[in-house]
Amino acid sequence: MTEGEHDGIPPTSSPAADRQVRLLLIGPPGSGKGTQGKRVAERYGVEHIAAGDLLRHEVETASEIGIRASNFMQQGELVPDDLVFELVMPRVVAAGRANGYVLDGFPRSLGQAEDCRPFFEEHDVAVSLAVLLDAPDDLMPRLLERAQSEGRFDDTPEVIRARLEVFRDEVEPLLDFYRERGLLATVDATGTPDEVWAELQAVLESR
Ligand code: ADP
Repeated sequence: MTEGEHDGIPPTSSPAADRQVRLLLIGPPGSGKGTQGKRVAERYGVEHIAAGDLLRHEVETASEIGIRASNFMQQGELVPDDLVFELVMPRVVAAGRANGYVLDGFPRSLGQAEDCRPFFEEHDVAVSLAVLLDAPDDLMPRLLERAQSEGRFDDTPEVIRARLEVFRDEVEPLLDFYRERGLLATVDATGTPDEVWAELQAVLESR
């Protein structure tokens, strides 16, 4: 099966008819958050909200947010929370009020998870499942390959190294936040996209 050509099953609104997909994908750079996020969106008819893609668009169009975010992204550092929140929050609320969402790369620190939780709860759109795409965090070869095909400005070896380091620093407290609430599942992300997708779907269907 090629990319974008999945199991031929039409989109459904959620795994269980009465339960919305409000999924957060967590994983190191190159673990497949984008690929799997798109599949979830297509399969369940929910919105794929990718913080990095939204930010890169702002940088490329030189918007006010983009101008302020650009240096952080070029260093592989996290963009300040206020900018990310301004960009992502309204989309999460809108998607949560519609069919649901798959969040790719936000929240990605404990601080972001804590700060957005009351706001999401107030709007009744809180994350209902967080999935760690578990992969060794040295995915440099995969990322450099992607850099050539996608031409992302933040996929140079030095920036990738910085992003991996930020991930290592932030991930454990973030995982604990969702684990403590009984919302964390783990999927082995070392296989092919189809293998990872099968495992991820099994997790989603079992909830
Ligand atoms: P990856 O997961 O491969 O590092 P992303 O496309 O998710 O790539 O993120 C790219 C960059 O966008 C990050 O290095 C960071 O600068 C910025 N970014 C993305 N999501 C967030 C977030 N939730 N908070 C702060 N910065 C973010």
